[in-house]
Amino acid sequence: MNIVLMGLPGAGKGTQASRILEELDIPHISTGDMFRAAVKEETPLGLEAKSYMEQGQLVPDRVTIGIVRERLGKDDCANGFLLDGFPRTVPQAEALDELTKELHRAIDFVLYIEVSEEELLKRLTGRRICRDCGASYHVVFAPPKVEGVCDRCGGELYQRADDSAETVQERLKVNLEQTRHLLHYYESTGKLHRVNGEQPIENVTEQILSLIRGSVK
Ligand SMILES: [Zn+2]
Repeated sequence: MNIVLMGLPGAGKGTQASRILEELDIPHISTGDMFRAAVKEETPLGLEAKSYMEQGQLVPDRVTIGIVRERLGKDDCANGFLLDGFPRTVPQAEALDELTKELHRAIDFVLYIEVSEEELLKRLTGRRICRDCGASYHVVFAPPKVEGVCDRCGGELYQRADDSAETVQERLKVNLEQTRHLLHYYESTGKLHRVNGEQPIENVTEQILSLIRGSVK
C-alpha cells in the first residue's frame, strides 16, 4: 500500500498519519525525518542537502528526489509507505511517478484531507502561549478557564507573531497555490481521494481507513 498523504497546515495531517500507521504496517516517511536521517548517515545526497540548508537555501529537487529514491528503496518499504510532505509540487509528483516505476511499484492512493481556508485560519490563529511557563492553549479547541490567563500558573497568554492572521494567511496562500496544482495532477491520474477534514478526528480516520480497506479487498 503506497500512500501519499496531503493536507494544508492545520488540516490534521500529522494526527491522521499516526492513526493510519496504527492500522497499517508501513513506515511513515516525512520529508523532515528523511532529510535528518540522510544528513545523520552522511550519505552523499545527505551532505549535499545539508550544505544547502546551512546556507539557508532550498534543497533542489534533484537532491530531494534522490533522497526519496534512497529511502523508498529500503527494506522497510517492502509492504508500502506513507509519504507525508512530499511531493509538494507537480514536478516532484512527476519525479515520484518515475522513481516508483523504477522500483516496480506505483502510488496506490493520494489522500487529501480537505479543510476550508476559513476553518484553517480559525485553527491556525487560535493558539495562545503562556509568557511565564510556556503552556499552550487554543481559543477554540483547548481554551483556558479564564480568557487570557494560564490555568497552570496564572501567567498572561499571548499570540506568537507566527500565528497572527496576516502571517498565517500569507503562508496558506503559497501552500494553497501549490496544492491546487498538485490536486489537479492527481485528479487526472484517478488516484485522488478527498476526505472531509472538518468532521471529528475519529470520523476522518474512519473514512480514510475504509477507503484503504475497500481497495485491499
Ligand atoms: Zn503558565
